[in-house]
Amino acid sequence: MPAAHSPNPIDLHTHSTASDGQLSPSGLIRHAAEKGIRLLALTDHDTTDGLAEARNQAGGEDGPRLIAGVEISTNWFGHSIHVVGLDFDPAHPDLRRGLSEQARRRESRAIGIAERLEKHGVKNAYQGARAFAGDGPLGRAHFARYLVQQGFAGDERKVFKRYLIRGKPGYVANQWPRLPEAVEWITRAGGIAVVAHPARYKLTRTKLRELLLAFREAGGRGLEVVSGSHHAGDNQQMAGLARQFGFLASVGSDYHGPRYFWLEMGRLPPLPPGCAAIWEAFQE
Ligand code: AMP
Ligand code: MN
Ligand code: MN
Ligand code: MN
Repeated sequence: MPAAHSPNPIDLHTHSTASDGQLSPSGLIRHAAEKGIRLLALTDHDTTDGLAEARNQAGGEDGPRLIAGVEISTNWFGHSIHVVGLDFDPAHPDLRRGLSEQARRRESRAIGIAERLEKHGVKNAYQGARAFAGDGPLGRAHFARYLVQQGFAGDERKVFKRYLIRGKPGYVANQWPRLPEAVEWITRAGGIAVVAHPARYKLTRTKLRELLLAFREAGGRGLEVVSGSHHAGDNQQMAGLARQFGFLASVGSDYHGPRYFWLEMGRLPPLPPGCAAIWEAFQE
């Protein structure tokens, strides 16, 4: 059951067509304005390529203030952990180098996924997924859309379950950089690193605490306390952990577009009491 919602004008985790979202960066900004969002971060998977277009669209009277963001895929002892970076300099060379490494990793993973799917009877898997991704980084969501289009399953969620998760025919093991590396790219670029949707990793309490310790040790400062992909109770639990570990608390829907199954923008509950709001730490 999803958590109860009340309007929240802040959203620091969203996707555009620069990764696997369905709205263009400027479309996303317009949508955010319609939904009453005042502070927005565009956090595409492993790329900042949508930021320039988003920045051009933002900053109008009714539009949100835009924060530079990215969501980096990392490896922490075999777990794929997503690290959101916020409020950094997108031109910083260390970050640029890191993200071009990510682009290469995504490309070689996509080739691996395509080969596996072909063996499973999916024709033109690479080109099919590529057509959905444009020239951006290829993700599993693009393969999912192609498989739905080809009639392999009724919707993307089913495709993930049958083809794209661990143990399924199109799965390629996590080859992302280690968590501390990605944190460093973000912090060197002047940004704040945040553990994205911490309740989604299905870690035991002990493992989650270990992750948070390692993340803090690496220079990470934020925890996504309120997430559109959290269930009832998760936000409260994460608020407790943020307070305990001294993390800045973030809020993000993980919005991917109107036809996607995560939450709409502007519908997140506010931060639970006692959290240190991450946006207080943003530079002017
Ligand atoms: P990737 O980073 O390429 O491994 O893809 C992860 C992305 O796939 C997530 O950000 C979601 O957009 C999407 N995704 C993950 N799990 C599912 C699912 N069960 N159904 C639909 N989309 C999913
Ligand atoms: Mn995604
Ligand atoms: Mn994620
Ligand atoms: Mn995301």
